[in-house]
Amino acid sequence: MTAPIAKLSFWGVRGSTPTVDPATWRYGGNTPCLELSAPDGTQFILDCGTGLRMLGSRWGMPNGGGNPETHIFVTHYHWDHIQGIPFFSPLYAENNEFHFYSFRSKFLGRDSLKQVFEAQMALPYFPVDMSAMNAKRKFKEVEGGDTFNIRENKITAKWLNHPQGCLGFRIETPAGTVVYATDNEPGDPKLDENLRELAAGADILINDAQFTPEQLKTTRKGWGHSSWKEGVKLAREVGAKTLVLFHHDPDSTDRMVDSILRQAREEFDSVFAASEGMVITLGATGDNVQAHMPGARTSLRREAQFRAKVTGVTEDGKEFQEETVVRDISLQGALISLQNIPQLQSELQVTMETPGKDGLQSSMRLKGYVVRIDEGAEKGQIAVGVVFTD
Ligand SMILES: [Zn+2]
Ligand SMILES: [Zn+2]
Repeated sequence: MTAPIAKLSFWGVRGSTPTVDPATWRYGGNTPCLELSAPDGTQFILDCGTGLRMLGSRWGMPNGGGNPETHIFVTHYHWDHIQGIPFFSPLYAENNEFHFYSFRSKFLGRDSLKQVFEAQMALPYFPVDMSAMNAKRKFKEVEGGDTFNIRENKITAKWLNHPQGCLGFRIETPAGTVVYATDNEPGDPKLDENLRELAAGADILINDAQFTPEQLKTTRKGWGHSSWKEGVKLAREVGAKTLVLFHHDPDSTDRMVDSILRQAREEFDSVFAASEGMVITLGATGDNVQAHMPGARTSLRREAQFRAKVTGVTEDGKEFQEETVVRDISLQGALISLQNIPQLQSELQVTMETPGKDGLQSSMRLKGYVVRIDEGAEKGQIAVGVVFTD
């Protein structure tokens, strides 16, 4: 019997508003949307930010979504968590069926999420009205404290500390437990306790990390968000195995997220910064979660051949050094084939031999971040995408 596997895909990771600024390209600019495929085939979608459009465009493709049974959880009604709904193409196809779960807002009353659908598509905000949405939609109200099962998976919802309310979701699958706790601010004892209960022993804990610890204490206090430091503290307290920093501030450049991630990694073993396109497999090998970035969010590349020496850290935290050939190189980065599997989002030193003046060899030393890992590329070789940072 093969071990059960769950797959968690990140389609949108940015908080508050989408960004198209090139300085935020690497982690991505779409607002929150996650997809969890459970071992029993149930597909969960967590939040409907602009990342949902991307998920929809992959619908029905071999590695895309397109499950007959899809359950969509909406944490709250702030723009960044609902704005992908009208642009989710599977909602316009008759044979699809969606189950939506969200809470009754005191500002909206009964059928809150249904009203959100109608309001988003009302004139003059959108060119077509609700009647164009042909997919079957079922709406279910949930609230903090609810627990229920969807096939083999157990769902728990808890209130988190956020203006106008927000639900955190815990999904226990036979392959492991994923906790989605976006949009929450520490400081309310009862709601902090909710968060700890929700996150207890999670294999993957996705926590709000929008602000720096300094901002959280001063200028951004009361805005409803958290920091990497609070995430690390929480992960330690509740014995979570892997922490994912989520809901990046629209003003945080890739370099700033790199620095946030570096600080968090100094204090906790297994941390990733949520990144558009990242896929985490749960229950695949032993206890380790594996985070990969398959496929490419393409950039212009040039075929080239440079001999290079690469040093870095593997997924198990061991240092390695190997010689290889850099094949594809662009202004931003390169595709390198390696035998070692470096850790996603870790730093690599790439020293390339380049033909210098008068035919003399010279070498160029670059620091890069691992942004893509593709194991299926060639037998025994891993295709590793790096972005050069200086
Ligand atoms: Zn948000
Ligand atoms: Zn919010």
